[in-house]
Amino acid sequence: MSIKIITPVAEFAELLPQEYKDLVAHGPYNERRFVRDLGTFKEIVDEHPHCAGCGVALAIRLLAAALPSPADTLIVGTPGCSFFALIQTALNYSNTAFGNQNAVATGLKRMLEIRFPHVHKDVVVVAGDGGIADIGLDLTLHSWFRREKITTVMLDNEVYANTGGQESGMSRQGQVLNMAPRGKHFPKIPVFELAKVSGCVYGVRVTVASPHKVGRAIRNAILIARELGPTYVQVYTPCPTNMKFPPNQTLKVAKEAEKDHYSYEEFMSAEAAEYLVQSKAESKEM
Ligand code: SF4
Repeated sequence: MSIKIITPVAEFAELLPQEYKDLVAHGPYNERRFVRDLGTFKEIVDEHPHCAGCGVALAIRLLAAALPSPADTLIVGTPGCSFFALIQTALNYSNTAFGNQNAVATGLKRMLEIRFPHVHKDVVVVAGDGGIADIGLDLTLHSWFRREKITTVMLDNEVYANTGGQESGMSRQGQVLNMAPRGKHFPKIPVFELAKVSGCVYGVRVTVASPHKVGRAIRNAILIARELGPTYVQVYTPCPTNMKFPPNQTLKVAKEAEKDHYSYEEFMSAEAAEYLVQSKAESKEM
């Protein structure tokens, strides 16, 4: 959401809650802020409706802090725990029918390019594993095949969390869930590997236990998508409610996953690597 839109008219400026005033005066709009600066400025998201210790909530906070241009970003989401906090952020947000997010994002990106040819309008899909790997897999892959200049972020909690705990395509083989009491029968869908061969020019697999890596991945993915094509970030966001671990153990669970099935991985095309070197050099010069 643009700073212009949230800035109150002078007559109302004093009447608004302090929180709101702080966001306008000290929020990340038009500023160079990053994950390392969290705690030093008024955040776009600082309260959320998720369960205590939710990995998804943490990932959304990191994502919001890492956006290169929050005022010119449109987040496209889909039902699930992934959209709870996003609908109450001070960002432009569009929700979709379940699984349609990459198709909707495609249309919005193309429309924004025509309407604002001289401004980078970043379109970022933020959805859960169910929305991306199950119901929306075909639309996700086709947006990559078409080389749409959008970033897709999967918040992977490995379960359909807000409908009681059914297995998702991203649940691990053998994983026992509320509604999969005998354990899942087939392996996790390799969406990260699919991204590599389906047209994504940059991709990262990471967990919320590495906040700086999450922030860097999101930022790189959005900058590269502006110029070169689709990008993908897959973030492991453990769910204490469905996985039945104490809420204060989320980072420990994520850390353990890094040693097991969620090791950090990054890929990028030669053009994307060149672009990152160039944009780093330019930002040093500024
Ligand atoms: S059910 Fe799990 S993923 Fe959903 S809000 Fe609660 S902790 Fe987060």
